[in-house]
Amino acid sequence: MTAKILDGRALAQARSLELAGQVAAFTARHQVAPCLAAVLVGTDPASKMYVESKARAAGKVGIRSETFHLAGDTTAGDYLALIDDLNRRDDVHGILPQLPLPSQIDPQAVFERIDPDKDVDGLSPANAGRLALGRPRLIPATPLGILVLIDHAGASVEGAEAVIVGRSTIVGRPAALLLLARNATVTICHSRTADLAAHTRRARILVSAVGEPRLIRREMVRPGAVVIDVGNSHAGGKLVGDVDFEAVKEVASAITPVPGGVGPMTIAMLLDNTLAAARLQAEGRP
Ligand code: NAP
Repeated sequence: MTAKILDGRALAQARSLELAGQVAAFTARHQVAPCLAAVLVGTDPASKMYVESKARAAGKVGIRSETFHLAGDTTAGDYLALIDDLNRRDDVHGILPQLPLPSQIDPQAVFERIDPDKDVDGLSPANAGRLALGRPRLIPATPLGILVLIDHAGASVEGAEAVIVGRSTIVGRPAALLLLARNATVTICHSRTADLAAHTRRARILVSAVGEPRLIRREMVRPGAVVIDVGNSHAGGKLVGDVDFEAVKEVASAITPVPGGVGPMTIAMLLDNTLAAARLQAEGRP
């Protein structure tokens, strides 16, 4: 078997076309374009590149963006004061703190400060709690993109064994909750899992969100599984995922490439969230 390659770039582009129409309708109705404000601290080139690519993608669908560049030694107080300003501004609908933050700024304190209706990362206690309670509002973008890719693979989620490797609050946990809400039988693995392969081999849907090249090898994958590779790391001067792509595509039924799989879908879903946030503020519903 050779797996169907799940093309995140093409899917994201199709979604952006649809979103552009919805953004234009919102802008005409409210006489204001949805606006995403990104906050970037320091000079890390990868973070700068992510923020720029998000701003470019936003512009293409009619979402306005503002980027705030803060010095690497910005205090937590000054950072939170900027969040307070953005919370108050009626023309800013989504707030995106670019991670990672320098050590003097606690990311949890930042997500606790962001107005939950502007929390397009879905990481505030209110939004994380709503997802855990099965009443989601704004959901982290990467897990949303993962679900779109699984649906695109044509996989039946209900009743399926789904195994998530990684338990971060931004990817693994919310992905598990979304799959649980769709009635999958979900297992979450992490760095202390005793026998990772014993779990991954049972998975009809396998999501890996770790950041370790070649963690998921062919013999760890159930034939016919849908494999979603969230990992991003560098090996041999190239961007690679967690999955040994060339070997695993011979046993899986569908697989995401890295790059070009989950990454573009994350940006597409972030823009979806920005429109949802703008609707929440203007219309009281996402
Ligand atoms: P993270 O917070 O570092 O979490 C990594 C998770 O992997 C942790 O739960 C950790 O377990 C687990 N882990 C580490 N080594 C393991 C091992 N050998 N076996 C099993 N589990 C192991 O990372 P993250 O923010 O979730 O991101 C994960 C990866 O996805 C990174 O490569 C990141 O760059 C990428 N990413 C990509 C996108 C995208 O749009 N493509 C978006 C977000 C993240 P413990 O909890 O026990 O430490």
